Amino acid sequence: MSDDERIVTASRVMAAPAADIFELIADPARQPEWDGNDNLGHAPPGQRVRSVGDVFTMALTKGAVRENHVVEFEEGRRIAWNPAPPDEAPPGHLWRWELEPDGDHTTLVTHTYDWTHLTDERRFDRARSTTAANLQASVDRLAALAEASTSRAPQQGARMDLTAALTSGAVRVLDLTAPLTPQTPILELPAPWVNTVPFELTEVAHFDERGPAWHCNVFTTGEHTGTHLDAPKHWITGKDGEDVSQIPPEKLVAPAVVVDVSDRVALNPDFLLEPADLRSWEAEHGAIVEPSWLVLRTGWAARADDAPAFLNNAEDGPHTPGLSTAAARFVAEHPNIIGLAVETVGTDAGQAGTFDPPYPGHNLLLGAGKYGLTQLRNLETLPARGAILIAAPLPIVGGTASPARVLALVPTDS
Ligand code: MN
Repeated sequence: MSDDERIVTASRVMAAPAADIFELIADPARQPEWDGNDNLGHAPPGQRVRSVGDVFTMALTKGAVRENHVVEFEEGRRIAWNPAPPDEAPPGHLWRWELEPDGDHTTLVTHTYDWTHLTDERRFDRARSTTAANLQASVDRLAALAEASTSRAPQQGARMDLTAALTSGAVRVLDLTAPLTPQTPILELPAPWVNTVPFELTEVAHFDERGPAWHCNVFTTGEHTGTHLDAPKHWITGKDGEDVSQIPPEKLVAPAVVVDVSDRVALNPDFLLEPADLRSWEAEHGAIVEPSWLVLRTGWAARADDAPAFLNNAEDGPHTPGLSTAAARFVAEHPNIIGLAVETVGTDAGQAGTFDPPYPGHNLLLGAGKYGLTQLRNLETLPARGAILIAAPLPIVGGTASPARVLALVPTDS
């Protein structure tokens, strides 16, 4: 086999400055965001490469860890490394990125996989299976990431005017919340498990002897009743995580990326979202580069005022749409997804109790410190991207969830 066949490359011009692109490569924690083949799992923060001889570690999605020995480095221009299993000498393959600025805002980026120095023949099949198409997938994803962050950076001198945005009608405010009444549907767990309670309103005074000039009530509700936000602490995998009062406010106001699967749910109430659906969404609408809520639009809210149809219980349990285990894992590991927002009574599919692990939408997401948001409506009013979601749970100290008012800010041109 000639050396030519052992060097695979892909390249592309990107509409972003070389320094910005380089940052996404030289900081290993950012690498899984552009990895087009979902091989890279995660890298500990604080490993930004600065010179030849640096070694950074990367956990692969299949579980193995690689120590990457940096063998070429020029800040902003070139970086290459030899991966190796922990505490072993690199077997000889090399990954390289080269950046060539073309003006201030455009860069030619070349990605190379070179196994000319690989001598262990047992590794040849695996090396040969890495194709230019594999490299191109990473290059394209890196381009989407770099170009999105460049184009969305605030323009110098332009000051955002929130008041004008709201009062001019350029932004509409929409309510995504289900009204809270004693009839609001709640999750029905099978015996022996104990259920949350319905919402209930009790009068305290009503312009009468209890209070001649005022009307007020007390309410009782489950934390997990109606439109509500699940905190990591709700699930055994997240039990040491945040309670609902501890969620940072910036996570409660964030972009909504809306994946619409309502056509397929109409044909199959047990529809499960797969990682391929999320990847094709990112291919069509751009990579999710800012911290965002993943909003799953299923059309299920059309049943929200008819509890039996909404819960869709049968002898073998409820039949409602959700995420496959693989999709839950994809979301749990996605660096920029804050949480999952759904129209159904819970963030898991009706049949998810039979999955491995059971209830992966809770097990994996809450275990990863992400959040769940349930029983939303009016999602058909949201664009695929461009809306801002505002989730406002009560700051219940020690709370595992809270009923929430959920609003969206939607640009009227979308
Ligand atoms: Mn819940």
